[in-house]
Amino acid sequence: MPDKKSLFTQIPKIDDILNEDKICQLLMTLPRIIVLDVIRKNIEEIRMQIAQLSEEKINEFQLRYPELLEKIIRDANEKDKMSLTKVVNTTGVILHTNLGRALLSDEIKAAVWNVASSYSTLEIDVKTGKRGSRYVHVEDIITRLTGAESALVVNNNAAAVLLVLSTMAKNKEVIVSRGQLVEIGGSFRVPEVMEQSGALLREVGSTNKTHLFDYERAIREETGALLKVHTSNYRILGFTEEVGLKELVELGRKHCLPVIEDIGSGTFIDFSKYGLAKEPTVQESVAAGVDIITFSGDKLLGGPQAGIIIGKKKYIDLMKKNPLTRAFRVDKMTLAALEATLKIYFDEEDAIKRIPTLHMITMKVEEIESKAQRLKELLKQYKLPCSILLNQAFSQIGGGSMPLVELPSWVIQIKPNQISVNELEKRLREYRTPIITRIQDEQLVFDVRTIKEEEYALILNALVDVMEIKKGDSY
Ligand SMILES: *Cc1c(COP(=O)(O)O)cnc(C)c1O
Repeated sequence: MPDKKSLFTQIPKIDDILNEDKICQLLMTLPRIIVLDVIRKNIEEIRMQIAQLSEEKINEFQLRYPELLEKIIRDANEKDKMSLTKVVNTTGVILHTNLGRALLSDEIKAAVWNVASSYSTLEIDVKTGKRGSRYVHVEDIITRLTGAESALVVNNNAAAVLLVLSTMAKNKEVIVSRGQLVEIGGSFRVPEVMEQSGALLREVGSTNKTHLFDYERAIREETGALLKVHTSNYRILGFTEEVGLKELVELGRKHCLPVIEDIGSGTFIDFSKYGLAKEPTVQESVAAGVDIITFSGDKLLGGPQAGIIIGKKKYIDLMKKNPLTRAFRVDKMTLAALEATLKIYFDEEDAIKRIPTLHMITMKVEEIESKAQRLKELLKQYKLPCSILLNQAFSQIGGGSMPLVELPSWVIQIKPNQISVNELEKRLREYRTPIITRIQDEQLVFDVRTIKEEEYALILNALVDVMEIKKGDSY
C-alpha cells in the first residue's frame, strides 16, 4: 500500500526534468526563466493534488510523466505568447474601442518601421543641421487639409482637451451647455477634464435646450472661453435646441473670447455624400471661425491614436510652450503613421478606398453580400457540424461615433450541432488568434464588414479546430 510520503517521493526533480531531451529542445527556443517557472508551477500543482488526496484515493493516484512533460511544453509555449496580439473582429463594430479602434493599412507599415528601426529626422532640420521640432512633420499637412492656421499633435484627444483648457482658460470660467457635458467610455468626462486643467466649468442652459442668450448672460469678467463639445456618443432628440457654431463664434468675437470646440471624432469627409448621417467635419468648424478645435486621430480619421489640435497660431504657440505638451508628446511611430495616413487624404476617393476605417464605413451593401456569400461557400465545403445561414443585419461605427447610424450589412450565422453556442464563442475567443464574435438568438454571428478576406482561411481553420466535442468537455 503506497502512502502519501511515497507519492511525494515520486515527484520528479526539477533538474531531471530540465535534462529531458524534449525540455532541452524547448530551452533552445524559450527563455530558461519561463521554462523553469512553468516546471515549478506544475510540480507545485502535483504536490497540492497529493496533499489533498483522501485515504481511499491514494491507491488510484498515478503520476503520468510523459503527460507532465507535454503539459510543461504546452504551458511554456502559452506563457511565451505575446499578450497584445491581433484578433479577428467579426462584430461589425468598425471602431471597436476594446479591439483597438482604427486599423492602419499595410501601406503605413513601411513609414512606421522606417523611423522605428532607423535613426530619423524626428528633431533635426536637415536644411540647417540645427535642432528641429517633432511637430513640424505633420503641421503643414494638417493645416493644408483643414484650412487652419496652425496645428499641434499630442497623445490622444483627452490630452488635447486638457492641454487646450490648461493653456487658454486656467483659473478662468469656461462656458459649456448642459447638453454637452459628455462622458466618453474610459473615464473621459468633460467636467472632470476641466477640473484637472484648472479651468472652471460654468454650465448654462438645460439638458435639452441651450440658447444663445444663456451663453451671453453667463459671460462676465472671469470668463476665459466658450466651449462646444460634440455629443459624439449620444444624441438628445425631440424638443431640443443647440447654438450653432457660427452664432457662438460671433458671440465670442463680440466679447473678445476664444471659442473652443472638441469635435471628438473628427472627420475630414462629409459622410452624407455616401448616404450616411451628416457628421460635422473639421473643415466646417475651421470655416465657421472656431479658434481652437480638437479631435482624435484614431476614430473617424482612421489614423493612429493621437489628439489633434488645430486653430489660431497665437493659441497653438502658447500650447507649444506649456510643459504639459512635453508630457503629452507623441512618439515618432505615431507621427509617421499619422503623416502617412494624412497624405492619403489629398485625394478623397483614394482615402475612401485606402483608409480601412473609411473603406469599411462606405462599403456598399452589395459588396458585403458577395463577401458574405464567399465565406458561406467556403464554410460549406468543410462540412462542419453546424448550420450555416446568410442573413441581413446592421453594423455599427463604434468608438463613440455616430451612435444612431446603422449600416445595413450581411452576416453569417452559425449554430453548432455538438457543442453549445456559448462554448463555440468561448473557444473562438480563446483561439491562438482570437476570433471575437457575438451571440444573437442562439446563433454565432459573423458580420463580414469588419472581416478582411485574407482572414477567411484563419476563421475556417479555427472553426475546424474548435467545433468538435473534445475529451474532457462537460456538457
Ligand atoms: C472620443 C472623444 C474624446 C476622447 O478622445 P480620445 O482620443 O479617446 O482621448 C474626447 N471628446 C469627445 C467629444 C470624444 O468623442
